[in-house]
Amino acid sequence: MLTEKTLLFATTNAHKLSEIRQMLPDFNVQGLRDIHIQDDIPETGFTLEENAYLKAKYLFDITGKTSLAEDTGLEVHALDGAPGVHTARFAGDEKDEDKNMSKLLVLLKNSDNRQAQFRTVIVWIDDKNVHYFEGVVKGIIARVKSGNQGFGYDPVFIPEGHSLSFADLGTDIKNAISHRAKAIDKLRNFLDVVRSSDQG
Ligand code: IMP
Repeated sequence: MLTEKTLLFATTNAHKLSEIRQMLPDFNVQGLRDIHIQDDIPETGFTLEENAYLKAKYLFDITGKTSLAEDTGLEVHALDGAPGVHTARFAGDEKDEDKNMSKLLVLLKNSDNRQAQFRTVIVWIDDKNVHYFEGVVKGIIARVKSGNQGFGYDPVFIPEGHSLSFADLGTDIKNAISHRAKAIDKLRNFLDVVRSSDQG
């Protein structure tokens, strides 16, 4: 059901949706499948910003309603910021997370520089404006995969200030400090401003 507090997110990723729902408990967050859109939106951009925009615009063009999307990349210092926009397909088009992490660990096998960051870009498109919200979390790439919570590269990413991977730390800690949480915080502040100007 679409209510006035519905936020449409152009994603089919159940993990992302579940994290975003936990971060925005006051909203009715709906993904593509919830509104019966079965398409896989092509991500042909050269940056996270472009890909997030393409996804949000695709949804906006179908629904005519305010639409959001996000794109996330893992940026590794010793790899000059790779995989970045290619994070999902790092080890091939099948987007196999385990192969992606293995490729990363092999590439960094002899590197003492393990610095990395996750970066998320959220795009909001309404009938008048486009807004961008960015979130970054710094950390290091572990030497081995560890943990079974979260998704994607979580087993090899150890956020700054911690000694365990996101996958070991678990959802509550991840969702308090992650790249996505920081981007959603900025979105939440923006929503507060929109709602207070609507009311007054
Ligand atoms: P996309 O934003 O759905 O294109 O995801 C890009 C890649 O980053 C995929 O391989 C995801 O699994 C991975 N990814 C996105 N968000 C996270 C996260 O919060 N933790 C770990 N990996 C992530």
